[in-house]
Amino acid sequence: MEEAKYIWKDGNFIDWKNATTHLLTHSLHYGNAAFEGTRAYKTNNGFAIFRLQDHTKRLLNSAKILHLNCPYDFDEINQAHIDLIKKNLDCFKSNVYIRPLIYLGYGVMGLYHKKSPVNMMIAAWNWGAYLGEDGIQNGIRVKTSSFIRNSAKSLMGKAKASANYLNSQMAKYEAMECGFDEALLLDDSGFVAEGSGECIFIVRNGKLITPPHDNSLESITQDTVIKIAKDLNIEIYQRRITRDEIYIADEAFFTGTAAEITPIKELDFIKIGNGSRGEITKKLQDSFFEIVLGNNKKYNNYLTYID
Ligand SMILES: *Cc1c(COP(=O)(O)O)cnc(C)c1O
Repeated sequence: MEEAKYIWKDGNFIDWKNATTHLLTHSLHYGNAAFEGTRAYKTNNGFAIFRLQDHTKRLLNSAKILHLNCPYDFDEINQAHIDLIKKNLDCFKSNVYIRPLIYLGYGVMGLYHKKSPVNMMIAAWNWGAYLGEDGIQNGIRVKTSSFIRNSAKSLMGKAKASANYLNSQMAKYEAMECGFDEALLLDDSGFVAEGSGECIFIVRNGKLITPPHDNSLESITQDTVIKIAKDLNIEIYQRRITRDEIYIADEAFFTGTAAEITPIKELDFIKIGNGSRGEITKKLQDSFFEIVLGNNKKYNNYLTYID
């Protein structure tokens, strides 16, 4: 990874290399932590964090769900993001990925974590297209996972929780080792849930369809794409889909802060549409990048500029 200079930890800036933690950190053992993935884009007016307030709100909601009593409030967390980008500005040549994490620290072992200290860190570094620049342009190959998405009966998908990501990580590993780029996870009823860290859309007969949030995170990028679709007068439906409906879709793509908008050109060895980036996908991508790069006035309120 591309290192930066400073990491924000519990209210202070520390050197990247000194950003270590005790081996008996609670979260390291049992996986209870809440995180976000946020991006700061390099615009013509300097760096701007995309939908920072929405990410912070979701982070605090995740902490609430997970019984993590975050020592920092909404405004403090937003400001810490801004300060962190400012402090590291010299290191940032292109778009930046930001990773805040609220976690259980050192002092208590055993599962009952009420008395455990809660710590928070934020790191930021240069990170390009998560599924590759070629993926953004030409689409990726996806495999339906043998793992099902965490069931709402056992885990809580409204939290962006580290522990939820064991499921994602296993699915991703399997897909990669099988020679694919990404996994598609079904829910415990067999309907399409999402990718390992992305939501999914399909296009059929000019209409956009994306599954509801029954088993997936309330994605900020998905919400952005729905708004863009409305601007472009593209009909949008939020309803369940099945894997075979993806096979016969005209277009399909993943959305996420990391993945941005990445076309899916193949699922389970079946070519989707013409097997490359679709027309509507391209239109949505163009609008999306216009917005995040500050070239669409209507969405100026989505951007927090770093000056
Ligand atoms: C983060 C995440 C997404 C994407 O959400 P964004 O808000 O668009 O970044 C989708 N699914 C899961 C499981 C995630 O953790």
